[in-house]
Amino acid sequence: MSMFCYQCQETAKGTGCTIKGVCGKTSDVANLQDLLMFVLKGISIYSTEARKLGYEDREINKFIFDGLFTTITNANFDRQVFVNRVRKGLELRKRIKNKLLELGGKLPVTSHESATWFADDEAAFEEKSTSVGVLSTKNEDIRSLREMITYGLKGLAAYTEHAFNLDQENPELYNFMQRALAATTDDSLSADDLVALTLETGKYGVEGMALLDKANTTRYGNPEITKVNIGVGKNPGILISGHDLRDMEDLLKQTEGTGIDVYTHSEMLPANYYPAFKKYKHFVGNYGSSWWKQKEEFETFNGPVLFTTNCIVPPSKNATYTHRIFTTGAAGYPGSKHIPDRINGGMKDFSEIIEMAKTCKPPVEIEKGEIIGGFAHNQVIQLADKIVDAVKSGAIRKFFVMAGCDGRFKERAYYTEFAEKLPKDTVILTAGCAKYRYNKLPLGDINGIPRVLDAGQCNDSYSLAVIALKLKEVFELNDINELPIAYNIAWYEQKAVIVLLALLYLGVKNIHLGPTLPGFLSPNVAKVLVEKFGIAGIKTVDEDMKLFLN
Ligand code: SF4
Ligand code: SF4
Repeated sequence: MSMFCYQCQETAKGTGCTIKGVCGKTSDVANLQDLLMFVLKGISIYSTEARKLGYEDREINKFIFDGLFTTITNANFDRQVFVNRVRKGLELRKRIKNKLLELGGKLPVTSHESATWFADDEAAFEEKSTSVGVLSTKNEDIRSLREMITYGLKGLAAYTEHAFNLDQENPELYNFMQRALAATTDDSLSADDLVALTLETGKYGVEGMALLDKANTTRYGNPEITKVNIGVGKNPGILISGHDLRDMEDLLKQTEGTGIDVYTHSEMLPANYYPAFKKYKHFVGNYGSSWWKQKEEFETFNGPVLFTTNCIVPPSKNATYTHRIFTTGAAGYPGSKHIPDRINGGMKDFSEIIEMAKTCKPPVEIEKGEIIGGFAHNQVIQLADKIVDAVKSGAIRKFFVMAGCDGRFKERAYYTEFAEKLPKDTVILTAGCAKYRYNKLPLGDINGIPRVLDAGQCNDSYSLAVIALKLKEVFELNDINELPIAYNIAWYEQKAVIVLLALLYLGVKNIHLGPTLPGFLSPNVAKVLVEKFGIAGIKTVDEDMKLFLN
């Protein structure tokens, strides 16, 4: 075994990648990510103590959420990024430890090596990195809970960073992230303590998504019902993927009047729903579909591609687009140009991407037509009367939350079949990449309400929760679980973990999670989730359909 990672749904054999990631992550990068996590925990042990004395280090706050984000599945494959971050992290740990002493604080009583290990040469990093990973927690239930919390924190960190880029911060999130990271090193915490911390992670997940919702809507307006063009124009284009709307804004501004068109890919599709972006005439629409289709779709796109977050699929050796890949923010790929962060609130400089686009051919048309989206909470609440009437009259029998992720594995055809087989008096509520499994199907509408209501990115699952809470109020119910809503959610990576924990915190029960349950759940932890929250996996479409509709 040269590495161990089981943080995503595609983990090898459902139990763990041990030689190389199914995602393409090499063992040295996986181990360096483990080492970075170890160092982040060490910093957090001290910063949590310093915060009790009223001291806050803004550089550490950013370093922690940014570091967590870089270790998310498919975000950053660049070994040197992790070496640099470990080195910087050790400096920051020393600084916060000295500050704690200077403030008259006591050094925390911890036996955890992350608070004390030090190395000043890179060779020692490699050696150390193989011994500090997930399996260094021996008890499988404690390991399972610690990792579930950690993966939730990674997802939370991603949303926090996007909000931060839009000048929205909540110090409570930083406080919690660091306190929880430190807690994952604390051997005195029992499994029950960690279950409670897992739910608390969900609480902060709700706050993180609410913060990002505020950040996005304050700056770009509320998403509105939009027909998104999926065909192409005649100009060369730039394709932008990921979640970062500030990068989208900078790119649209810098490409205006250049003769270059802008298209979204995959996770960035919901940018089409925001009023502030719709005004740009050269913002043509969305090209292609889900993140895992990028090997084919980037070939035919012909122009440069900008990753503002995950998911990056490593290009094949004979790919013709490798030199057209650019990354920014937490994303990184060895050999690809990384666009640096903005300085003092200015714009990022995308001029190199624009110059490259001018030399490229226009995209090849791979499909034509439109898809519809923009059903975030503000828009849906405006339609509330219509929706409530449809429910009361029986025109809508049930809602199905089919939010979450998409992925490469053929088992996910389940979600297409499920959407196709749903009775015509049901409506799908979605957010995230899972929508690509059914958002181009002719599923029709109910009294003018489309049968697929897409709220946006996975963080917009917050919108789905707001909508559910609004319906609970309108129907005067005591419990969110009394609503005619079933949850059949697909997961892939750690942002989906924080969404799941947020739903559990909100009291949502009986969520079905697929295509497989997380490999990081030990049998005992899985049992707790089943008994306390009614979490279940999926079976065949027909079996599940029967269960949900009864
Ligand atoms: S992120 Fe997923 S696919 Fe990649 S190494 Fe980890 S478990 Fe394997
Ligand atoms: S929906 Fe899932 S796969 Fe898509 S960006 Fe969110 S967490 Fe990642």
